[in-house]
Amino acid sequence: MAKHKIATIGSHSALQILKGAKDEGFETICICIKGKEKPYKMFPVADNIITIDSYDDFFKIEDQLVKENAVIIPHASFIAYMGHEKVEQMKLPYFGNKKILHWESDRKMERQWLTKAGLLMPKIFESPDDIDRPVIVKFHGAHGGAGYFLAKHKKDFNKKIKLHPNENDYVIQEYIMGVPMYVHYFYSSITGELEILSFDKRYESNVDSLGRVSARDQIALPRIDPSYVIVGNLPIVVRESLLPRFIEMGENTIKESKEIASPGLFGPFCLECIITPDQEIYVFEISARIVAGTNPYTHGSPYSYLKYDEPMSTGRRIAREIKIAEKQNKTKEIFH
Ligand code: AMP
Ligand code: AMP
Repeated sequence: MAKHKIATIGSHSALQILKGAKDEGFETICICIKGKEKPYKMFPVADNIITIDSYDDFFKIEDQLVKENAVIIPHASFIAYMGHEKVEQMKLPYFGNKKILHWESDRKMERQWLTKAGLLMPKIFESPDDIDRPVIVKFHGAHGGAGYFLAKHKKDFNKKIKLHPNENDYVIQEYIMGVPMYVHYFYSSITGELEILSFDKRYESNVDSLGRVSARDQIALPRIDPSYVIVGNLPIVVRESLLPRFIEMGENTIKESKEIASPGLFGPFCLECIITPDQEIYVFEISARIVAGTNPYTHGSPYSYLKYDEPMSTGRRIAREIKIAEKQNKTKEIFH
């Protein structure tokens, strides 16, 4: 019987994480904000549901979780609602390298990491005066992609930024014309092996429906501001000849992470890419943990099927890693 219990916050990819943990023989705990328990009751993946009034109350139950020998699996909702500083202070075993959080949450450090890894990134314009091509302007914080806008030049930027008088925390990024593609990797620090587990693209409101309205009708309608609010994820299988490049990009990202934040990135991670018609692969962000784009693959993906003789979701792969570490007495290496 596995020694640890696997715990996560009820949102994002919790269903997949907890199901994967159960499939690997772990007991599971879902920590839910009051009123959000229903999915975790409908789908029998949590052995125990702990309800808290707000994320601030997480620390009130931390001791209880420590006593239960729980390990927390982080995901975007956990980091977004707790904040990375609080996560760094947690004493509960955490699956992943906490030092990486810092590199990932600071756009400049993230850029330094990925460019040193040889990845191609969209250009950043420090000042609107420098804008010399179409750009996407992204606001930080909990907007979830609402309010982002495109601008064709400085004048256009100055006009559109006026609609956001209270915003001064944003990035001006070169707009890459191509298709988005999210690559889901898993790196085992125990075996030193990199895996590609799946790919997805996001389903975002309202940009993903703009193509359903002709340009003529868009002009006729009241002003439409594109937004990138995530509402779901769609599976993708990539052109096979692109795979060698995706593999190399993952390898280089891991290699560089060892330089900047020893022992480096391990477990699941995602490179968020845009591919141009010239097949240039731009990376605009990294997520150093499980992303919800792995959710279409609760039962495994076309790629995990090639490697495993059983359904292997990213959530299950995490649990498998913990199981291997327990057997080899190496949990200290993967819990930070
Ligand atoms: P939520 O718990 O749904 O409020 O999400 C918290 C954070 O995770 C948000 O910042 C979202 O951008 C991100 N997120 C949630 N669900 C998804 C998803 N299906 N795909 C990508 N990102 C997501
Ligand atoms: P983000 O909030 O950074 O995850 O981006 C939200 C959406 O904007 C995603 O659908 C991306 O495909 C798109 N996006 C982000 N950065 C760029 C870029 N530099 N060029 C084109 N599209 C982008």
